[in-house]
Amino acid sequence: MVRVRIEEIEEYARVNNVPIMLKDGIEFLTNYIKENNIKHILEIGSAIGYSAIKMALVDDDIKVTTIERDKVRYDIALKNIDDFNLNNRINIILGDALEIDIDEKFDLIFIDAAKSQYIKFFEKFDKNLISGGKIVTDNLSFHGLVEDDSKTNNRNTKQLVRKIRNYIDYLKKNENYETKFYELGDGVAISIKK
Ligand code: SAH
Ligand code: MG
Repeated sequence: MVRVRIEEIEEYARVNNVPIMLKDGIEFLTNYIKENNIKHILEIGSAIGYSAIKMALVDDDIKVTTIERDKVRYDIALKNIDDFNLNNRINIILGDALEIDIDEKFDLIFIDAAKSQYIKFFEKFDKNLISGGKIVTDNLSFHGLVEDDSKTNNRNTKQLVRKIRNYIDYLKKNENYETKFYELGDGVAISIKK
């Protein structure tokens, strides 16, 4: 028996300001997983397990490994995953993704963690992606600030915007991948490994 509704997780995220994927973004991602018959997923940034659960629910034979460094969120994710009886298909790891080594190969890697470190995540986990595999990155719009950062004067925010622009440039120039950008959710990119 499932002991929690997905709407309750969405509500918890809203009330507690947990930045889970936006509705149209997660819908796009789960459709993509279905259409491309993706079965083996690595996620960087689990938060409270919302996107990992949504991805696992696409099909009974999908397996997700997901990494979260915040202990409080990790504990909530564990409970949510357990409430959905998905322990056998979602493996959540507590720790900093940049310090965790994984041997397995995946057909999709979802990067949804610290925006300042996107290039590092991309380069570190490239070895874990099969040829033809996909890297999906979230939050490339950063609430529209990447397109227009005159809406903020905050120095840290401006710095983050610069880092995201830099990552977008990096994706465009990366010849080992073919990247497409999608203006939905908070800005999503899909990079296909050649
Ligand atoms: N994918 C989730 C939302 C993730 S929010 C969903 O859509 O449901 C981003 C999360 O990444 C935060 O909880 C943050 O703690 C985590 N994070 C940021 N940097 C990280 C890192 N280096 N390693 C592991 N987790 C990280
Ligand atoms: Mg996100």
